Formats: sequence, C-alpha cells, structure tokens
Amino acid sequence: MIYDGHTRTCGLIGNPVEHTMSPLIQNFMAQETGKNMVYVPFHVQQGSLEAAVKGAYALNLLGCNVTVPYKSDVMEYLVDTDPLAKRIGAVNTLVRVEGGYKGYNTDMPGLYRAMQHDGVDIAGKTVVILGAGGVARAVAVLLNDKGAKGVILFNRTVSKAQQIADEVNGYAGADFAKAYAMEDYAKVLTEDKYIVIQATSVGMHPKVDEVVIEDEAFYDKVEVGYDLIFNPPCTRFMQLVKEHGGRAYNGAKMLVYQGVIAFELWNDVNISREIAEECIRQMEEAMK
Ligand code: NAP
Repeated sequence: MIYDGHTRTCGLIGNPVEHTMSPLIQNFMAQETGKNMVYVPFHVQQGSLEAAVKGAYALNLLGCNVTVPYKSDVMEYLVDTDPLAKRIGAVNTLVRVEGGYKGYNTDMPGLYRAMQHDGVDIAGKTVVILGAGGVARAVAVLLNDKGAKGVILFNRTVSKAQQIADEVNGYAGADFAKAYAMEDYAKVLTEDKYIVIQATSVGMHPKVDEVVIEDEAFYDKVEVGYDLIFNPPCTRFMQLVKEHGGRAYNGAKMLVYQGVIAFELWNDVNISREIAEECIRQMEEAMK
C-alpha cells in the first residue's frame, strides 16, 4: 500500500497490545479491497482510556478495536452503543459517528459468522456451553439473539453459571438457560447429540494436555465442538471430539471474523469468504 494524505487510520486500544494479530488481518483486508486505510496498535496506559478515545476522535481516526482490559470501561466514553453490545456488556469495536464513536461487539457476531462458515446451524437447538466467564456469558446472549432453543451452562463454579442463566432468562424467558456444575453433564444431557462451545481457558498454551471434561463418554454426545481457544490450533478438547466422530473447530475463525465485521463497519464493504479464508490462513501461519 502507498499511504498518502487521504489514508484513514484505525487501531487497537488495549494493554498489552504487542501480541496482537489484528494489524495483519486488517491491513491485509485493506490491501485486498483497495481501501486506503492503515491499522496500528495503540498501547493505552491505565487511566488514559478517556483521553485515548477523545484523542482518537480529535485525530480523525476512522475507528478502533478495543481489547483487554477496556472492553467494558470504554462504554462510558461513547456517544452511542449497539443493542447487542449493550446486552453483552462489552464493546470491542468503535465506529466514528457525529460527535464521537458508536460501540459494537463484533466478537460474538464473529463467532456466529464462523459457525455459518462451518455450516453449523443453531436455530431451534439446545447448545451446551462449557464455562461461565466473560466469553461464556457473551455466547449465551448471542445464542439467544440468534434463535437457539436454549443453552445449558456447565461450570466448575456453578454459582457463576447460575448468574449468567438468571441474567439471560430475565429477558429470554425463564427456561432458556440452565446452569449446572461441570460434573453433572452425564445426568443432564438427555439428547443424543449437541453443539458444544468450549469457553473455559482450560487447554490453552502452554497447558495443552488439559481438558475440562476428561470422561470420554461425554464426547459421544458432541456433534460439533467449538473450542474458543486458538493456541494451540487443535486442543485436547478438539482431539477428543474428533476421536468420537464429531466435527471440531478452534477459535481462530471467530477471531478473524470479529475483525472482518469491524472492517466492514468502518469501510461499508462486504468481505468475501475467500478473503476471510486467506486471513485465517495467514493468522495460523503467523502463530506457528
Ligand atoms: P474467564 O472470564 O477468565 O473465564 C474462565 C473460565 O474458565 C471460567 O468458567 C473458569 O471456571 C474456567 N476455568 C479456568 N480454569 C479452570 C479449571 N482448571 N478447571 C475448570 N474450569 C476452569 O475467561 P474468558 O474471558 O471468558 O475467556 C475464556 C476463553 O475464551 C479463553 O481461554 C480464551 O482463549 C477464549 N477467547 C477466545 C477468543 C477468540 O476470539 N477466539 C476471544 C476471547 C477469548 P470458574 O468460573 O470455575 O473459575
């Protein structure tokens, strides 16, 4: 790309940001679509978030992604927030509008686009979520938004799963989400097969031999297993799903698609499946 007086800047606000794959993905999409845009990381010190958002606007930045630890805190510095992001309680994308930035959550729509890419249909299904952290909570909100019949949350600390279930049931209806302790899966899962979303941090590099449910019988019930972890690219959870005849995917596609959706919001374009696939390939290559 040749940058000139018309080049628009986007960036990533976070702390730390040095490990990010987003510049790779975003600058590749700019190149492929011919958009005169450059994407750079911005390491924002604790206490400087408001100044960073105001400064970004003053410097005419087209938009920003927001990562840990600012996804919730950034919401108070925005002029508008998309309803799904409000329900999730986290914003990872800022889009420039009149007077400031509008906040979106593209992490969860990113997971949904990854599922569509993989031909996984959640409409009318009961989906199992392993974990009850920030990401599991957002997944439960997404699944309700996209027409799943229900979710069953399993977590080591059952009170955290119950808190998510209560919150989602507050607007989804009393029976949408159910919460159980991790070890209760054998008595709770009465259907033949499930889509299972692994949203705990168990199995992440470097503890790649760990898995949140060891019992092999559990994996007979997994038709499709999504591990939101992307390093390693094939987790122990994914191996077990495959060994028991299921399809298994990692979190790399979700990560790429959250960036794709952000790019589309900033540039008012549609990114093709081919470009998205090339982004996934480049990201996996860069992680090796
Ligand atoms: P979090 O809020 O810290 O939650 C961690 C979850 O893992 C909790 O449910 C926790 O259970 C469970 N857990 C941790 N250690 C455990 C253990 N030894 N045994 C059983 N359960 C354990 O994390 P998060 O922000 O939700 O992130 C979860 C995962 O999502 C991360 O690993 C990350 O890799 C992945 N992620 C992926 C993407 C992507 O784009 N693909 C984006 C963000 C995050 P307790 O409640 O009992 O502690």
